[in-house]
Amino acid sequence: MLFEDFGLDKRLMSTVEHLGFAEPTEIQQQAIPVAMTGQDLIASSKTGSGKTLAFILPAMQRLIKNRALSKRDPRVLILTPTRELAKQVFGQLRLFTGGTQFKSVLILGGENFNDQVKVLEKDPHFIVATPGRLADHLTKGHFYLNGLELLILDEADRMLDLGFAKELSLINNKADHRKRQTLMFSATLDHAQVNEFAMQLLNKPKRIAIGAAH
Ligand code: ADP
Ligand code: MG
Repeated sequence: MLFEDFGLDKRLMSTVEHLGFAEPTEIQQQAIPVAMTGQDLIASSKTGSGKTLAFILPAMQRLIKNRALSKRDPRVLILTPTRELAKQVFGQLRLFTGGTQFKSVLILGGENFNDQVKVLEKDPHFIVATPGRLADHLTKGHFYLNGLELLILDEADRMLDLGFAKELSLINNKADHRKRQTLMFSATLDHAQVNEFAMQLLNKPKRIAIGAAH
């Protein structure tokens, strides 16, 4: 299978070509087509297997295809457990949003709160964030998730291990409407709390487990 087979917009394909990847990884091959149908998804594969592009490509494709669907931003929220991971995901996302109309922001714990308020007021299309700080902004009413189309939980197992269950529930409730799509990624699906959360947050999800023992 090739990246061409996904039917991605040609601007996305040119960035993929620029990255020089010969073919999609297994998780990308399985997750991208499912995510592009708009279905909810819970997927696992080991660290280093290419999960970031497995959600960035369908997210970008969705916004390019439905440019005018939502007037209310943000449209895509990507949550990651740590500042370092958020920065890495943001770096990858920027490769794809660069030169497009889509604005993306990074909202991390430990950084200046008021600067983040200003950035959130500019209605970014994409937010990449750690859960604690994002939940803070939501609670204080600095922005809303009423128009959120896509919620992505990267490394859901680690977010839960780090004690972010309360923040994730709050964010989920503030972005709760029927047309939202939710993608959940984890190193393993063998994690009771991940499954419990999947039942709360996802709507009839497709399950993909790469390299699982069963
Ligand atoms: P994970 O989130 O599963 O730990 P990452 O998305 O961080 O994995 O990707 C790990 C590394 O693999 C990154 O350096 C990324 O650029 C690279 N990578 C991603 N997709 C491909 C691909 N299709 N072919 C080769 N390398 C890839
Ligand atoms: Mg990752």
